[in-house]
Amino acid sequence: MSQVVIALGSNVGDTLANLKEAVSLLEKEGCGVLKKSKLYQTEPWGYVDQDDFLNGAVLIETDTPPFELLDVTQGIEKTMGRKKLFLNGPRNIDLDILIYEDEEIESDRLTIPHPRIGERLFVLRPLMDIVPDMIVPGLGSVKELYDHYHGEERVEETDLTL
Ligand code: ADP
Ligand code: MG
Repeated sequence: MSQVVIALGSNVGDTLANLKEAVSLLEKEGCGVLKKSKLYQTEPWGYVDQDDFLNGAVLIETDTPPFELLDVTQGIEKTMGRKKLFLNGPRNIDLDILIYEDEEIESDRLTIPHPRIGERLFVLRPLMDIVPDMIVPGLGSVKELYDHYHGEERVEETDLTL
């Protein structure tokens, strides 16, 4: 079994229901959910003229190898009817594989660890809830990345739970 961290985001429709549905679909695909982060209301990144996102992250364990796991997460996005409008635009569900054990992968389809992991507070904040001591291969611990973050993204803790 491998331990994997997946980020979840949604800013279209019933965002909480979307995130919960994505987690239950991951479980159906054989991913055991070990930890769930708190959920955060975050400002959109890159394209600002859209609603806030609801973001969170889960620690899962799975036997599915990295590229097959990307097939699974993209299959879930498709099942949930994600329509890709444009880069950084609104989406009802976004599933990103952040960390996959100590794997370092760089290909057209898949980059692990996720390339923007250390630069986005909407990613780092939920990670601090579930895996503060986990080493992000090539970058250091989640806590170190969080401590070094000096941006000004708006990321507000909510009382919603996955
Ligand atoms: P975003 O970068 O905003 O998450 P998308 O969800 O549309 O954008 O994903 C764009 C592409 O990123 C996907 O087609 C996928 O192949 C690629 N990708 C590369 N690395 C990863 C990863 N670690 N997790 C998820 N998708 C990834
Ligand atoms: Mg994505």
